[in-house]
Amino acid sequence: MTKLKKHISMFLIALLVFGLTSNIGYANEINNKSVEQEPITYVVNEEQQVAVYLEDSQESEILFHLIKDSVFDIVELGDEYSYIQTKDEEDNEVLGYVLNEEIDQYAIVQDKPDEEELSDEKQEETIETPLTEEPQENAPNEEEAVSEENTSIDSTEGQDNLTEEDELTEEESQTDELKEEEQQAVPDEQEVSDEQPVKSRMLMSKALVTVQGVALKNPTNVYTESSRNSTVLKSYSQGKILKFEKSNNQWLQATVYVNGKAVAGYINSDDVDLLVEKQESSRGIVYNENLHVYATPSKNSNVLKSYKEGHTVVYQTYSAQWNEARVYVNGKWQYGFIHEDDVIPENTPQSTLNGVVKNEKLNVYSGLSKSSNVLKSYNEGKSIKYRTHTANWYEATVYVNGKATTGYIHKGDVVNADAPQKSLQGIAKNRVHVYSSTSTNSSILKSYSEGSNLKYKTFTKNWYEATVYVNGKATTGYIHKDAMVDENAARTNYRGVATASPTRVYANESTSSKVLKSYSTGSILKYRSYTDNWYEATVYVNGKATTGYINKKHVENSKNPQQSITGTAQSEVTVYKKASTTSSVLKSYSKGSKIKYKTFTSNWHEVIVYVNGKAHTGYIKTNTMEKGLKGKVIVLDAGHGGHDPGAMGIEKDLNLNTANYLRSYLNAAGAEVIMTRSTDVYLTLAERVEISHQYNADAFISIHYNSNPDPSPNGIETYYLPSNEDERELAQLIQDGVIAETGLRDRGVKNNGNFYVIRENQNISVLVELGFLSNPNEYDTVTKAAYQQKAAKGIFNGLNQYFN
Ligand SMILES: [Zn+2]
Repeated sequence: MTKLKKHISMFLIALLVFGLTSNIGYANEINNKSVEQEPITYVVNEEQQVAVYLEDSQESEILFHLIKDSVFDIVELGDEYSYIQTKDEEDNEVLGYVLNEEIDQYAIVQDKPDEEELSDEKQEETIETPLTEEPQENAPNEEEAVSEENTSIDSTEGQDNLTEEDELTEEESQTDELKEEEQQAVPDEQEVSDEQPVKSRMLMSKALVTVQGVALKNPTNVYTESSRNSTVLKSYSQGKILKFEKSNNQWLQATVYVNGKAVAGYINSDDVDLLVEKQESSRGIVYNENLHVYATPSKNSNVLKSYKEGHTVVYQTYSAQWNEARVYVNGKWQYGFIHEDDVIPENTPQSTLNGVVKNEKLNVYSGLSKSSNVLKSYNEGKSIKYRTHTANWYEATVYVNGKATTGYIHKGDVVNADAPQKSLQGIAKNRVHVYSSTSTNSSILKSYSEGSNLKYKTFTKNWYEATVYVNGKATTGYIHKDAMVDENAARTNYRGVATASPTRVYANESTSSKVLKSYSTGSILKYRSYTDNWYEATVYVNGKATTGYINKKHVENSKNPQQSITGTAQSEVTVYKKASTTSSVLKSYSKGSKIKYKTFTSNWHEVIVYVNGKAHTGYIKTNTMEKGLKGKVIVLDAGHGGHDPGAMGIEKDLNLNTANYLRSYLNAAGAEVIMTRSTDVYLTLAERVEISHQYNADAFISIHYNSNPDPSPNGIETYYLPSNEDERELAQLIQDGVIAETGLRDRGVKNNGNFYVIRENQNISVLVELGFLSNPNEYDTVTKAAYQQKAAKGIFNGLNQYFN
C-alpha cells in the first residue's frame, strides 16, 4: 500500500469513528470542491517541485509548481491523478491535477491544526479576495495611464475607504497637495496596506456599506443627480473597478473627489456589474472560437492570453459578467479576466439533439478541429444524435471498434431536426425522380416529366424533401436540388433566331402539345430560360399574352456580348429584315463599303440601317464581310511625349518605339492605323481621345511602361473599364498576347481602368503597361528594342484574335 493510500484509508477509518457524531460523509467530501470543507490537507516536505496540471494528463498545461512547504487539499482522489486545491502567493484558490505518485513521494499529511488556528485561516480565506486592483497595477493599459494623469488611483484605492464607512469610492483627482496631506495623516503607507486587508471585498460587503463593480460603459459616468440628464461629475473607462453604496435602487450612490473635495454622485446600476460577494473556483471550456484573457474586465483592454474553443480553463467567479483567471505570460503569473459568454462551466447540462447530415459527408472528429482525426463518417441525409457543446461544435458518442468514444461534429455539417423547413415550389428541369432516401442509388418512389411544377421542402444541402403518394399512401421522398429550378428563380432572357421551319411555340413542354404560334425561319425571337430542353416565351394569342414553350433545338441564341466592329464589304452586301435570305431586303451596300455591325449569330451580323430617314435593325450574312484586321481602324496612342517624359524620363520613347513596331504589324495585316503622335510631341489626354472619336476607331490602344516607388513590382497589366464587355475581352486577349511573346510576369487585366483615355473614349479602348522601369531587372529587359518589338507583336496578336 502506498503512503498516500494509507493516509486516505486512515482518514476513512477516522471518519467511520467520528462519522456517528459528525454529519460529514466522505463521499460528500470528495465530490464537494468547496473551500470550507477540507478532506485531507497535505504539505510538500521535500525540496522538490511538484507539477500541478490543468488536466489529468502530463501532456496538459502545467499551471504551476508546488514547492517545499506548499499546503494543498485533495479534493478528489483519482486512480493516477488527484484533483487538488491550493493557494498561490496571493492566497487565491487554485485547482489542478497532481500525479498521485508525486504526492506519495514528496508530500505528507499536514498535522491537524487546532481549532483556533483553523478558524483564523478560514477567516483569512473569506476576506482575502484580492486581485481587484492587481491586474491593473501589474499591466497598466493605455486607458489607465490616461486616467492616472487625471486622477491618482489604484495604488492607494480603498486604503482609507475601509476605515471610513461613508467615504467610499475611488480615490479621486487628488492634487499633489492632497496627496501630501494624506501622507501626513498616514505616515507609512506601506505599513497601512500591510496591516489592513484593504483589497478585501468581503469586508466591505460585510459592513454593508460599500460594494464594488466593474464599469461597463465606456465611459461610465457619475452624475450629480439620479438622472442621465444631470451633470457628469466624473467619467471612468470601461473595466475600471468602482465603489458605491449598496442599494436596491436603479441609482447607486457614490462619492467622487472633484478638485480634492468629496462630492456625492450617482451611478446608474445598468452601467456597473457588481462583483461577486465570494469568489468561487470553477473549471470550464472555451465556448467560442477563441477565448481572450483580458488585462482588465473590459473587452477593450489588452489580451494577456488566448485559448482555442474546447480548451479547458480554470478560473474564479468575479462579477456577473466576468471571471478571473490566472495566466502565465512572459514568464510570470498574472491575473486576467474572462468574459462569462466565452466560457461554459464544465458541469453545464448538455441537451441532446436530433438532426440530419447536411453536406455530402459528415465527419465526427476526435477534437474540435476539422484537421483532427476522423472517428467516423456519415452520408448526407443520415439521421444522427448529438449533444450541445460549444458555439461551433456538437459532441457525439460514436462506436469505434465497438467502443463508445466521444467525438465532435461541426455545427455547419448538420441540420437540426427542429430547424424550420422552408416550403418551395419549382419546375423539373428534366424528367425528375423522387427517391426513397437522399441517394440516387436508392429506390425511385415516383417520377415526374420535365416542366412539372412540384412542391417540396428544404432538407439538406443537396436534397429536398417531398411527400408523394405511393399506392394511395403519403410517403416521404427526396428530390435532388439540381433537378429542380425554383419557381421564383430569376430567368435569363435571350434573343435569338428561329432556325426550324417553322419554329413553333407550344402550349406545353412537348412537341406534341398544342401549337400556340409559328414563326418562319430567320425570325428574331425573345424568350427566357426554363428547363434543360425548353425555353419559355410569351406570345399573343387572340390579343392575349400567353405563356408558351420553344424547344431549344429550334432557335440559335444571339452572341452575348455582341461585339461592335467596322468591316469592309467583300462583295455586295444585302441587309435583310430578318436573319434569312428569303426575308425582305432593307438595303444594299456595294463591295468595299465600310459597314459598322454587331456580331449576332454564327451566320448573321446585325446592323442598323436608315431607310427613308428611319432606323431599322437588319441582318447581313457573316461571309459577306472581311474578317480580321483588314480595314479595321486602329488608333495607337504612345503615352506621354514632349515635355512629359513619363516614367524614369525615358518612357515616352519606349512607348513610341513600341507603337511604331505595332503600326508595322497592323499595316501588314491591312488595318488602317492612326497614331495619336508619331514624334516626340506633347498632346493632352483630351486631344488623344478626340482623335479616337474623329476616326471612329474600332480599337484604341494606349501604350505605356510602368513605374513604382518600390523597386520590387514587375510584370505586365492591361486596363479596361468594367462596364464594357468588349474592352474586357480585348484587354484579356492583348494581355495574353504580350505575356506569350515576352514571358514577363502576368499581373492580369485590371478592371479599374479609370484613365482619361479609356473613361472618356466612346470607342473600344484599353491601356497596356508593358513592364516596370522602376524594377532594375525589368528596366534592363524592357529598354531593349527587341523587347519592344516582342511586346508590339503580342498586342498585335491580341488585336488579331479579337477581330477574328
Ligand atoms: Zn505612362
